[in-house]
Amino acid sequence: MRLRIRVDRSVCAGHALCAAREPLVYMLDADGYCSSDGVLVPQALQEQARRGAMMCPEAAITLWDEESFDS
Ligand code: SF4
Repeated sequence: MRLRIRVDRSVCAGHALCAAREPLVYMLDADGYCSSDGVLVPQALQEQARRGAMMCPEAAITLWDEESFDS
């Protein structure tokens, strides 16, 4: 499984709960909004990525399994 983070910046409200819960996965920009859109999650941090995504009250974070799209 190869997970990539997608953050819908149009709904991210800068709560910072993702980064507070899983700071090794989720980063914030200078304004406090999630800046991890497009980041490929290291294998060892996939569970942390899922936990951080679940913390988002805006459901702004999606984790894509890129291997499921390979043919
Ligand atoms: S928890 Fe959600 S709304 Fe808050 S910074 Fe992270 S992605 Fe954005």
